[in-house]
Amino acid sequence: MISQEDALAKILAAIKPGPSQSIALADSVGSYASDGLLAKVPLPGFDNSMMDGYAVVATDTRSPTPIRVVGEQPAGPDRRLSMAKGEAIRIFTGAPMPSGADAVIMQEDVTAREGTITCQEAVERGENIRRQGSDLCIGQRLLSAGDCITPGRIGLLASQGVTSLNVHAAPRVAVLSTGDELQALGADLQPGQIYNSNGPMLQAQLQKLGVRNVTLIHCGDTLEATVSTLNTLAETNDVIILSGGVSVGDHDFIKPALAQIGMPPEIWRVRMKPGKPFLYAHRDAPRPLQVFGLPGNPVSAYVTFTLLVRPALLRLMGANASALRPRCIPVRLREALDARGDRPHYFRGYIDEGGTFTSHGLQRSDALFALSKANALVCIQPDHPLAAGDLAQAILLDL
Ligand code: AMP
Ligand code: MG
Repeated sequence: MISQEDALAKILAAIKPGPSQSIALADSVGSYASDGLLAKVPLPGFDNSMMDGYAVVATDTRSPTPIRVVGEQPAGPDRRLSMAKGEAIRIFTGAPMPSGADAVIMQEDVTAREGTITCQEAVERGENIRRQGSDLCIGQRLLSAGDCITPGRIGLLASQGVTSLNVHAAPRVAVLSTGDELQALGADLQPGQIYNSNGPMLQAQLQKLGVRNVTLIHCGDTLEATVSTLNTLAETNDVIILSGGVSVGDHDFIKPALAQIGMPPEIWRVRMKPGKPFLYAHRDAPRPLQVFGLPGNPVSAYVTFTLLVRPALLRLMGANASALRPRCIPVRLREALDARGDRPHYFRGYIDEGGTFTSHGLQRSDALFALSKANALVCIQPDHPLAAGDLAQAILLDL
């Protein structure tokens, strides 16, 4: 059995980011930049007013003498106004500064009467002016390769007038649910059948990662069906995530089927609980193909996806190395947790507003209800039980 760390290192070493392609800015959220990008437009683009008020010469605001208002500059086309000492120009938020002014006084701080203002407060030189380039200079780095395109970055790129950018192509992913007991949602359950919950759950985990191109498919427990389904999926997908059939039961056909299509698993059985039967296979030609075999038990499928498949997909999507690590926060344990056995145990549980982690419900690999209540995992090493009140690192789940 391989450790989870070694399994992940082996998987990541086998995966290269997908090809670079141009994408419309409007469709790019959740993608990862394949090229860096530098600023072409400074922010702000020109000196402008931070307030609705009056453009003034700062020293004029220290005296009670009325200042004559000689023009008005709203946000919009630059009227190229100019003013002299002893004069003011009515100005609005975002409007270009007139020449001759060196500050803006808020309208709340003046008394306006018959084309003049009298200042109630003094302003300093430069006050309430947003200087050209004070947020972002031309040539400053906007994006590095591997950066996620977030809504904030889309705003920044839009401020540059960018309409498209280069990102790594999104992988095409098939989710294959295996098992003769699986019934499609919407159909009636016959005795012995269960609904296929792994398919929609894994699809949702993919959606949370930004993978939208997902095919869901089912196949029964025969070697022939498994081989032919895998062959078909391999033609049009970059990744196959399958669940069930990866153990050693008489009805588990994934390993022999992979061997038959020339992809014997490179990893099988990982020292973790839940998730031990996890397997991984890949090939580079004729096209790169990654196959992740997750255990059929829903909690095992969920946890192995989170810890082993998620970082692999992020690598494929071109994410930088720091994004591959799960997001962790320190928590205090509400109760003692003991791994019992020889594998690191990922407890499912809930972190409350106070930062206390409570392991929730049945800690069994089929206990989907308990999983549905969890917002975090805490890993307990076999030889390191923790007591109530101890600090631990919790892995935040993508909710
Ligand atoms: P397996 O790994 O195929 O031996 O399956 C282990 C357990 O997971 C069995 O109880 C299966 O019925 C269950 N299981 C397998 N696939 C799914 C699925 N897609 N949805 C829900 N449960 C499943
Ligand atoms: Mg099965």
